[in-house]
Amino acid sequence: MNIIIFGATGSIGQNTLDVIRNQRPNHDFRVLALTGNNNIEQLIKDAIEFSPERVVTANHANFQELKERLAPYNIEICSGEKAILETARMEADWVMSAIVGFNGVSPTLEAVKYSKIVAIANKETLVCAGKILMETAERFSTILLPVDSEHNAIFQCLKNEDINAIKKVILTASGGPFRKSSLAKMESATVDQALAHPTWKMGHRITIDSATMFNKALELIEAKYFFNLASDQLDVVVHPQSIIHSMVSFHDNSILAQLGPNDMRCAIAYTLNYPLRKPSLGEEIDFAALGKLTFEAPDFRKFPALRLVRSVLKSNGGLGVVFNAAKEIALDRFISGEIGFLDMSRLVEEVLMFPEMIKIEHKTPEYIEEIILLNNRAREIAKEIKLH
Ligand code: NDP
Ligand code: MG
Repeated sequence: MNIIIFGATGSIGQNTLDVIRNQRPNHDFRVLALTGNNNIEQLIKDAIEFSPERVVTANHANFQELKERLAPYNIEICSGEKAILETARMEADWVMSAIVGFNGVSPTLEAVKYSKIVAIANKETLVCAGKILMETAERFSTILLPVDSEHNAIFQCLKNEDINAIKKVILTASGGPFRKSSLAKMESATVDQALAHPTWKMGHRITIDSATMFNKALELIEAKYFFNLASDQLDVVVHPQSIIHSMVSFHDNSILAQLGPNDMRCAIAYTLNYPLRKPSLGEEIDFAALGKLTFEAPDFRKFPALRLVRSVLKSNGGLGVVFNAAKEIALDRFISGEIGFLDMSRLVEEVLMFPEMIKIEHKTPEYIEEIILLNNRAREIAKEIKLH
């Protein structure tokens, strides 16, 4: 099986390589290409271990060093956004889409045209280009498999089920590090506090998005497009143990849930072995030791992202692009210390209310070029807005 990993040096990329490393003795895996950005130490290490045909760094500044240090090996070295897009055109059996943020959208859409299976971790592709992604997969008969634990869970629950029998899907959320904090404490929360996720180990950006619950908001949009659901079929419940990864409720009031350890290697292995199930690296759950699974309603005052996303879920227009772009800039501004933790949702709300952006509500982008333009414009606006 020929494999490409986009975002190989990140949290999902490294977990993917771990799954491959573990299953390699019993499988014919061939890594065609690995891509990264600035973590070239990791990229070099993995290139030597997995002997891909091609290694790509998104950043031209890393090209020379990568080329020199991988010179003894028979590996093609490339750099830049264009090279990443070209890599998406290599024919592969299985692709992992795990670049973080909007930069992962174009390569994912391109890979869907050339690969048999695309495992989607980059939720931004669904948030910003859900309609295009699903239509492209249909047109090219490409299998899309969700890696995000919630969507992977829903996908598993829906196997052999009639999609019309779904009443709603219930995404579980851990509640993040501020589940029990006061609003006042959240107002002055630091980056380090936001990075202290209680149950999952992930890349920095998605970890802070989990603390604001912007991650859950993005996941609602992701579910809408992946499973073709209406806004009122999408719900969130806080489940601090992160053992139930999500649930589907059907018209007969039966509910199917998928449970598992909070280890992304389980979801990744599911997509790698699909439609089979193979022994995984995640630990078996010991229910007696766990004791209890609990649930709470999310607090919309503390997590306005869950309120703001509702207008995006109701429209089929380009608001997903605006929501994501504003969130990415808000996150940059929080990480740089320019704005506070709760200012992130204030900033996103202001961008969504910007007259030029409101118009987008009913205009569905049909092409990636439109999405890129809209993303750039929303980012500009989000950078310029001064919060009082
Ligand atoms: P990380 O930040 O850990 O890794 C991101 C990857 O993208 C790295 O390989 C990084 O390279 C690369 N990258 C960064 N900027 C660029 C760029 N401009 N062009 C090309 N590549 C770039 O992120 P995660 O692994 O946590 O997340 C990846 C995606 O998966 C996100 O969309 C996230 O929402 C989603 N996801 C992640 C989960 C998790 O458990 N981590 C769970 C569910 C979904 P480098 O490090 O070399 O600079
Ligand atoms: Mg998730």
